[in-house]
Amino acid sequence: MRIPLLFFLLSLSLFSGTCKEDAPVSDFKTKHVIIIVVDGPRWSETWEDSARVNIPMRDQHLKPQGVFAQDFNNEGFTYTNSGHGAITTAFYEPINNSGLEFPLYPSIFHYWRKYYNRPSTKAWVVASKDKLYILGDTKDTTIRLWGAKTDCGVNGPFTGYRDDSITLRRSKEILNLHHPDLMLVNFREPDFSAHQANWNNYILGIQTTDQYVFDLVQHIQADPYYAGTTAIFITNDHGRHLNSVQGGYTTHGDTCAGCRKIELIAIGPDFKENYTTPVHYDQRDIARTISALLGFPMPTGDGQVMWDIVKGGFRRR
Ligand SMILES: [Zn+2]
Ligand SMILES: [Zn+2]
Repeated sequence: MRIPLLFFLLSLSLFSGTCKEDAPVSDFKTKHVIIIVVDGPRWSETWEDSARVNIPMRDQHLKPQGVFAQDFNNEGFTYTNSGHGAITTAFYEPINNSGLEFPLYPSIFHYWRKYYNRPSTKAWVVASKDKLYILGDTKDTTIRLWGAKTDCGVNGPFTGYRDDSITLRRSKEILNLHHPDLMLVNFREPDFSAHQANWNNYILGIQTTDQYVFDLVQHIQADPYYAGTTAIFITNDHGRHLNSVQGGYTTHGDTCAGCRKIELIAIGPDFKENYTTPVHYDQRDIARTISALLGFPMPTGDGQVMWDIVKGGFRRR
């Protein structure tokens, strides 16, 4: 009886020692991360519509490539700078929405750059809204010099918003010139037209940004520097009021279901393909997941790694 038991234990240890599914976290293929934020579409005009008439590129070409989160949320303050800040710092704070205040905590840009001692040209915030330059900085003076370079608005902070077509072009130029490893891109539509209470332009803004997102993803995937090694997150900073809330689609900012519910598509070599996750996630989980994939510590903020969207799932933890 003793010999078969020994054989059994020996074979067990041999098996576990060679099991590839127990690979360490450093085994991830992701080397670069691009976050694309479409500013403020409402779920009812995007994914709730079964024909997805306004987002054909995301629905037909991008969603099948990766993970779609059907229960993704802004769980904090449903306005632009706070929503974007939650994505980059994993923390919900009632930050000033005019570009007058930096995030309290350091961001993925700070922690990643400092941990790997990477040059400033490798981390970028490219945004149609000038006020989003704050994402490259922090109030934390011990680390703020490790932030991201910014290309925001007409000509930097307090110069006004620019058209999304310019942001698309600038994004490609920066990708080509600097090959950033960590980058956030913001498109101001459909939020910009919705605030003008122009329904047709609001819908057009959803359709146009859908094309721009697809264009940008194709550009990234066609570059040998990024192909096969890049995680791409497509998401929103907030939704918009339900029609039952005063102002309806023209504004946002409270805790209604329309403002909370946002989208997330995650495409990359470490993500499952053609997979819909039912798990309730929020914006803070994007930063936490990036920290896990790129292997740098993020000692501040909240959120959880979205392990179920990762190939190998919870075994990779
Ligand atoms: Zn916004
Ligand atoms: Zn609302």
